[in-house]
Amino acid sequence: MNQNYRKDTVCIQSGWQPTKGEPRVLPIYQSTTFKYDNCDQMGRLFDLEDSGYFYTRLQNPTNDAVAEKITELEGGVAGMLTSSGQAANYYAVFNICEAGDHFVCSSTLYGGTFNLFGVTMKKMGIDCTFVDPGASEEEIGKAFRPNTKALFAETLANPSLVVIDIEKFARIAHSHGVPLIMDNTFPTPINCRPFEWGADIVVHSTTKYMDGHAMCVGGCIVDSGNFDWSKYPERFPGLTTPDESYHGIVYTEKFGKGAYITKATVQMMRDLGSSQSPQNAFFLNVGLETLHLRMARHCENAQKVAEFLQEHPRVSWVRYPGLSGDKYHALAEKYMPNGSCGVVAFGLKGGREDFIAFMDKLKLTAIVTHVADARTCLLHPASHTHRQLNETQLKEAGVEPDLIRLSVGIEHADDILEDLSQALEQ
Ligand SMILES: *Cc1c(COP(=O)(O)O)cnc(C)c1O
Repeated sequence: MNQNYRKDTVCIQSGWQPTKGEPRVLPIYQSTTFKYDNCDQMGRLFDLEDSGYFYTRLQNPTNDAVAEKITELEGGVAGMLTSSGQAANYYAVFNICEAGDHFVCSSTLYGGTFNLFGVTMKKMGIDCTFVDPGASEEEIGKAFRPNTKALFAETLANPSLVVIDIEKFARIAHSHGVPLIMDNTFPTPINCRPFEWGADIVVHSTTKYMDGHAMCVGGCIVDSGNFDWSKYPERFPGLTTPDESYHGIVYTEKFGKGAYITKATVQMMRDLGSSQSPQNAFFLNVGLETLHLRMARHCENAQKVAEFLQEHPRVSWVRYPGLSGDKYHALAEKYMPNGSCGVVAFGLKGGREDFIAFMDKLKLTAIVTHVADARTCLLHPASHTHRQLNETQLKEAGVEPDLIRLSVGIEHADDILEDLSQALEQ
């Protein structure tokens, strides 16, 4: 919109900009195809000589309007939607890494990303080294190799709630001439904008708070436009040397700050095709319109729940960055001063049976494989999302075997507290 509106206004007004007689609300362009008047017009699109729509696998006006809104919320220059958060993470790395390359990643990660980076991408010849995010710059620096192409981390890790020192990570990445890619799913740009602290690329699972209603799986990649690929032409040949699949265009030369997202769109998406359906993009946009309101309520409720759990005799430990005694409180105060997210992690005293009895007694709080939506829910990562990880990997990911991930919704806080309270009674 280029108006410097505040984030609340961007949530509602940005993206779709109707002109005279057009629908006020973002329309769903439910079309695979777009029409042109003559052969030459179409040819120019295929050569990337003109910009325009021709096939929804590459671009669709509904998706683009929503990507633009998220891009503006993050303060970036270009963005694209993907069919899932997994696809966003995969493309964000694969866009600059190929077989024989390597990247470094914080070990505090979502289980799905851990498998993608640690197992599946390894099979493609892309190696990943996991590092302890709390280690010194020197220690983390040791993981870098001549073929390292990126540093990756989750701003606020799912489910360990470890907060990354973004400035430290940006310094490490930049001193090795690679971009910092951050998965900003949990805080969302409402609570943290990694670009303001030096991150170069942001990815999202929009499935979580952005959608907010547990309706659509989706993802997004946003580029800050700040990383200068042409400064390291040998390290990023995919962006700085001719692409034979487009008659030899060079992305950095032709698209400048838009090089990274253009390549991800016209090459990754063209060839791998994890595009989001326009219908889902429409729902995502409805979610985004209230993101600023919902995030505030999630954080307010989660703070109350975390304080309640901390005082409860049956609870052995609680992790929530909003608690003054939390290990990551200071980092959260710095990077997310208005609140972190609605997820609280905690452990119960007693054994496995006590833990199962507690879960089964809950009435309002549902046991589901989801997190970060309007309804309060919970999950035991060691037996659900992170069950592929062994004991050591769980520890590295910051997931204690007894960790319960409680995703606090936007119901009335007292109802959530009463539900937890009755289930915690012996
Ligand atoms: C859920 C999640 C993902 C994966 O996203 P999907 O939309 O489920 O594919 C990636 N990163 C984080 C932090 C997540 O919470």
